[in-house]
Amino acid sequence: MGRSHDAAGEGSTAEGRESWRPEADPPWTSPLERPREPEQEVGLRPSRLEDFVGQERVVSNLRVALDAALARGEAPDHLLLAGPPGLGKTSLARILATELGTHLHGTTGPALERPRDLVGILTQLRPGDVLFVDEIHRVPSAVEEYLYSAMEDFSIEFTLGEGPAARVVPLRLERFTLVGATTREGLLSAPFRARFGLVERLVPYPTDDLVRIIERAAGLLRIGLGQGAAVLLAERSRGTPRIAGRYLRRARDLAAVAGRTSIDADLAADAMARLGVDPQGLDDVDRRILAYLGRNPSTPIGLKTLAAAIGESEDTIEEVFEPHLLRMGLLHRTARGRLVTPEGCRAVGIDPRGAAPGPELF
Ligand code: ADP
Repeated sequence: MGRSHDAAGEGSTAEGRESWRPEADPPWTSPLERPREPEQEVGLRPSRLEDFVGQERVVSNLRVALDAALARGEAPDHLLLAGPPGLGKTSLARILATELGTHLHGTTGPALERPRDLVGILTQLRPGDVLFVDEIHRVPSAVEEYLYSAMEDFSIEFTLGEGPAARVVPLRLERFTLVGATTREGLLSAPFRARFGLVERLVPYPTDDLVRIIERAAGLLRIGLGQGAAVLLAERSRGTPRIAGRYLRRARDLAAVAGRTSIDADLAADAMARLGVDPQGLDDVDRRILAYLGRNPSTPIGLKTLAAAIGESEDTIEEVFEPHLLRMGLLHRTARGRLVTPEGCRAVGIDPRGAAPGPELF
């Protein structure tokens, strides 16, 4: 069984120790997948909608779409799932196929280089199947236009041969549901976006939801959780279930090495300290960003300058570090650049005088 294999695989002490080795990229605090993580996540993925914790509005809208489709015996509308990495977009696509009793076919935007790549996938789809396209904002425009007729009319035109002998062959497709996932909804063209009947946005999870996710995952991993341990891990997980699952697995490794069958708050704190993650969920790079901005708290700093000073790419700063710092009210963005807030200064032990308060958070 996949689940027990996953649990047994990672629980062995040799592998557990190996995973403590520092890795360059992506950092522990990143919502992006780390090496080997896809296999480790397999057993933890919720498989039914009722197991999917939080995001109540999204779940309720999907429930309605699913029930209506099942009642009509048709495929649901195409669905666009937008939101930061690690919040459950892939899990929801899988759940949709499971609840429909159909198959999930997965690909990514960058893998669909030419229309031909898409034809192969589309013609394999059986009635009601779910086609999941991750990073859909990165589908090349030639392929995107091709997708339009597949999405609208469930047919495509396929060119056979080349040059003067080329023939255009119409191909009928089965009715399927396209589920697109994007971390950059703004990069999707308006006509593409308009072809999704449902657009749902996932938002970072509150601590309570992350606690439930950690408790559920601990049950699946067969590790006990002592008083306060789940809250401690949840509070540092940057609103992201992927990070929560990762921290839980690291704490479980530590428990295994110590010969313990459960994680208490002290052990969870020790695991976090070993990863360099502080009570606010900040790691070394977050702290370097705040400390750099805190050198001149009243001077906005451009992304390029900040990236060069910190030694991280602009994309990594924007996608991995900044969202959490913004959400915590430790940094804010202005037209002229990034500014640290008084709370951001305090988080790294800098005198906050001169720091501009961030915009009101609601
Ligand atoms: P995304 O596709 O948005 O990057 P995933 O669906 O791959 O995110 O989720 C990452 C991990 O987080 C998965 O292993 C899954 O088990 C877990 N996860 C995400 N959302 C939830 C949730 N709402 N409830 C329980 N586990 C979740």
